[in-house]
Amino acid sequence: MNNKFKGASHRKSYTAKTCNQACGCPSISKNKKPYWHMIFIIPALLLAGAGMLFGDTLRAVPFAWAEYAVFAAAYLLVGWQVLLAAGKNFIRGKLFNEYSLMTIATLGAFTIQALPEAVAVMLFFRVGEMFQEHSVSRSRKSIQALLDVRPDYARLKKENSTKKVSPGKVQPGDTIIVHPGEKIPLDGEVESGHTIVDTSPITGEPVPRSAGVGSMVAAGTINLSSLITVRVTKKFAESSIAKILELVENAIERKAPAERFITTFARYYTPAVVMVAVLIAIIPPVFVSGQDFSTWFYRSMVLLVISCPCALVVSVPLTYFAGIGGASRKGILFKGAAFLDIMNGVKKIVFDKTGTLTKGSFKVKAIVPHNGYSQEALLELAASIEAHSSHPIALSIQQAHGEPATLLSVNNLTETSGLGVRARVGSSWVMAGNQQLLNQHNISTPVASHEGTIVHLSVDDDYAGYIAISDELKEEATLAVQRLKELGVEDLVMLTGDSRQPAEVIARRLELDQFHASLLPEEKLDIVEGMLEQIRGKNAIAVVGDGINDSPILARADVGIAMGGLGSDAAIETADVVIMDDNLTKLAQAVRIARTTRRIVWQNIILTLGVKGAFLALGAVGLATMWSAVFADVGVTLLAIINAVRAAGKGGKAGN
Ligand code: ADP
Ligand code: MG
Repeated sequence: MNNKFKGASHRKSYTAKTCNQACGCPSISKNKKPYWHMIFIIPALLLAGAGMLFGDTLRAVPFAWAEYAVFAAAYLLVGWQVLLAAGKNFIRGKLFNEYSLMTIATLGAFTIQALPEAVAVMLFFRVGEMFQEHSVSRSRKSIQALLDVRPDYARLKKENSTKKVSPGKVQPGDTIIVHPGEKIPLDGEVESGHTIVDTSPITGEPVPRSAGVGSMVAAGTINLSSLITVRVTKKFAESSIAKILELVENAIERKAPAERFITTFARYYTPAVVMVAVLIAIIPPVFVSGQDFSTWFYRSMVLLVISCPCALVVSVPLTYFAGIGGASRKGILFKGAAFLDIMNGVKKIVFDKTGTLTKGSFKVKAIVPHNGYSQEALLELAASIEAHSSHPIALSIQQAHGEPATLLSVNNLTETSGLGVRARVGSSWVMAGNQQLLNQHNISTPVASHEGTIVHLSVDDDYAGYIAISDELKEEATLAVQRLKELGVEDLVMLTGDSRQPAEVIARRLELDQFHASLLPEEKLDIVEGMLEQIRGKNAIAVVGDGINDSPILARADVGIAMGGLGSDAAIETADVVIMDDNLTKLAQAVRIARTTRRIVWQNIILTLGVKGAFLALGAVGLATMWSAVFADVGVTLLAIINAVRAAGKGGKAGN
């Protein structure tokens, strides 16, 4: 299924402004206090009310100028923005847009002395804007709160130690350390180490680049393979939080299919409607005897007002944005509307095991030395080299060892995702990883007599022993699987780099449909590609993962979902959806939010087209008044906006 907008390649095209271009409808506006509209709405409401109440008196003066004055004042109070926008568009040569449509229609209403109606159009429109801005700013706040949960950090190197600090505290000239799988927090030059860098979060180029001593590396790119030290060359400029927020706000650019349809629709629709209105005003009075111009002009104006497409153009993106905001409040970050749409139709979900289905907090069960090592020495060796990895296994081994001060010094560390780590300790090469890693270096491994995940160790060419560790299933995993099945997900698959025995235990417990073990990252990718091929866009495949080795499959899936807590930066950056607290039941929740959003989008499309269609039919035979037209336009828009806001769900605390 290739209809997705992958982050990287799509990120380049963020310049175009969706809605304005198509039809001039108010696009989702930024950074305003929604209630400032009240300053205009209230006086306009009072004026129009007075105008209607004292209409007879006001009309009694010559040419009813007093009535015109009162309504014109109210009209300008609420409508000046629309008039201004219409004027600006006109100067730019954009004749057909929502603003010009509203301007022509309301000025037309003035000429036929439908004054309250003209004011009502602008007034309701303004109220709609207010609701819309309120909803947008609420969503933005939720997203922001969610992103604050996972702050950026840099590992600042001091003499003999490193300290995690906020990147803003790092000065040019300082040295930082970046572990494999981490995001490089600041621009700089590689001082030591050699690694592969994934630059796609910045450049959109999915080709990993190699970086050695002297190479420049950019903030925001991901260190994929080895530990590097970087001399910082620039101060911290923009946090990734700011970047992600911008990305999500521009989520309307990464449009869901329904939105794209609306945009295209509006582009042809608006000029067509204006043409029809002009024809209705001119043809009958000119060519049919006994038809007077004012009747047909009135009808033409009614038609124009009814047919404004704003309700759709505004409510559809708003619904998605509200849905994204609502999801954020539940701790689920959607990086675009398209993914909200894809989540609807997910039939197959591929899970990674460690850190995704399991807690990733391993407990050391046994330390089994070989070749004369003591248990302490073996654990120390393992902890020393694992101190430079961010893999859950590494963290657990460090914890089992405890005291970081006694660790041996380590150089030239390389982590091969899905296999393990290799580094120089003193004058020896030490490896910690699975059987495949050691076998690749021609070191044979004995069959372990312990259950669980086995981390084998070697020193130079000799096998040194193993550490058996066990991981626990996340508490909510069974419930999460059950809920997904209830929602109609048919196929649940587990792919893991771990060996068969611990994988099988998990797959059995969760009653998964399939599992594949001992996979290298490229094998995981092959399997996912095979599945995509098989399914061929008929329905969607989601991949859920946390590790560096999961990022290729997260990128390839129709929707990639990363664990935001334990997950590596590599996975989080590539994913389309991030579950901030790693809770698996959020998957079902994400599907439900996606379905609610989709349902509201369709409700609005049907509501709008239905009402407009009915009133257009009435208008054509002369039965619709200007008031009914006002309802069919701004009234429906308002209803659609209020409905759209529902996609955000009920309140509740942000960030979760
Ligand atoms: P999963 O695919 O289940 O999430 P990973 O791909 O992250 O698991 O890891 C697969 C296997 O690779 C682990 O079970 C372990 O044997 C080995 N491995 C990966 N990283 C490390 C590490 N830092 N130290 C030791 N072993 C590792
Ligand atoms: Mg994993």
